[in-house]
Amino acid sequence: MPLDWCPFATKRPIVSDNFSVGRDGQKVRAVVLHIAAGPLSAVFPTFNNPARKASAHFCIGKDGTIEQYVSVNDTAYANGLAWKDGQWYNPAGKVVQPTWQDLVPKVNPNLYTISIEHEGYPADKWTEAMYDANNRLLLWLAEQFDLTYVPRRTLIGHYEIDPVDKANCPGPNVEYARMALEVTVWRAARKFKWMPINDRAALYQFAQANNLGYPQTDEFEFVYDGKTYVGQVFNLGIVYARKGDWGNIKWVNK
Ligand SMILES: [Zn+2]
Repeated sequence: MPLDWCPFATKRPIVSDNFSVGRDGQKVRAVVLHIAAGPLSAVFPTFNNPARKASAHFCIGKDGTIEQYVSVNDTAYANGLAWKDGQWYNPAGKVVQPTWQDLVPKVNPNLYTISIEHEGYPADKWTEAMYDANNRLLLWLAEQFDLTYVPRRTLIGHYEIDPVDKANCPGPNVEYARMALEVTVWRAARKFKWMPINDRAALYQFAQANNLGYPQTDEFEFVYDGKTYVGQVFNLGIVYARKGDWGNIKWVNK
């Protein structure tokens, strides 16, 4: 079961009238991106107003702030469509023809999507802080729901669901392919144990000075005679030192 609340988001739960508990048996299939058409500060009051019947799971500010309003295991109301008489209708009651090809026939997409609002307006270019926060959130969601991001399939804009009234949500400058690739890189890299042991890259510099070629591994730790060492394999030898004793590096043949 995915965690309800993202541990690095600011938790701001909203009134229960504006979301549904659970997902009626549906599984999350995609993350849908939105633009708030206003400041971050206006989002919580809107979603917490029982008269509005509106919500998203998250909003990201231009400074990288992440707020969460609804548990990811509950249904927010940002991506709604209703199926009636063989057609999809948007919340304003207009017939729409969604371009998202993974809609579940006749089932409201709110039940199988995560929604992320973003501070600002459709014409804005997102700040780097916003991309970074968005990517960190996408990575966390990928791990909760085992999502692999593919633009237009598992990572979409609101316009793909409602091309009539939301054609400009989140706007033309949003770089879906960049996000999908960057999050995929992060996810792949997290499978390895990161070892930021030697902040001066002393083993690497030693190997270069001694013509040992390029690194073939990360740095790794080992213990000998009760003392911790750090090693790293290069093309032509294995470089090692007592941890912290970066002025006294040695190497052996492979
Ligand atoms: Zn939207």
